Amino acid sequence: MSTIIYPSPIFGPIHSRRLGISLGINLLPADGKVCTFDCIYCECGFNKDHRTKTPHPTREAVAEALEAKLKEMHEEDIRPDVLTFAGNGEPTSHPYFPEIIDDTIRLRDRYCPQAKISVLSNSTFIHRPKIHEALTKVDNNILKLDTISADYINKVDRPTQPSYDVGRIVDGIKSFNGQAIIQTLFMKGTSEDGIDVDNTGEAYVAPWLEAVRDIAPREVMIYTIDRETPDKNLLKATREELDAIRDRVVALGIPCTASY
Ligand code: SF4
Repeated sequence: MSTIIYPSPIFGPIHSRRLGISLGINLLPADGKVCTFDCIYCECGFNKDHRTKTPHPTREAVAEALEAKLKEMHEEDIRPDVLTFAGNGEPTSHPYFPEIIDDTIRLRDRYCPQAKISVLSNSTFIHRPKIHEALTKVDNNILKLDTISADYINKVDRPTQPSYDVGRIVDGIKSFNGQAIIQTLFMKGTSEDGIDVDNTGEAYVAPWLEAVRDIAPREVMIYTIDRETPDKNLLKATREELDAIRDRVVALGIPCTASY
């Protein structure tokens, strides 16, 4: 098993027990990874090992490839449950992300009106008014918030923007007024650099819960490592640990799912 670089701009559909039939939309180049984070657990690998040499797919290329795939699926009577923006990095970094969302809504309405549109984002561009507005148009605006410890984020999520400020990110997620889903990865162990990366303890969970309560998202999704990670020392959080954290979120009156 190794880290994954996804085809671009369309991949799948992938059949998953949790999402159903999910068609992937990857707005990053097909030959590497482009992200404003460099998470040590990223299934695509470290940024430095996957530099890209080709450009992002154009808005037109995304729309054409998506329409061709949706037509093909329609003819084969395969109905996607969800169109998921994910892949080799941060989807909202694409210069035409807002326009691509509009194209995707149009194509979804035409070929598979039952399908939801999900965006998996690391939240780094949510302050840009056009990105914020585009994210309000999708069904599932899924925003990463692994912790509110700046120190932990710098060691684990490793933002590439020196200006990254987790307090500002929390305010940005809050500004969706409940129309956001928070996604948080919990894990354990010590990184290859000897850093303790366990964020399942009270020192991390309690302030994170405070932030979740303050943001009041529509839902929270917690999960743990599922695939090979570029840092080989990381460990999964246990089912019991995830269930305990999930129960504390639910006790705040916020729906929460845990994936193991
Ligand atoms: S935000 Fe996502 S794509 Fe970017 S480095 Fe982290 S896990 Fe990988």
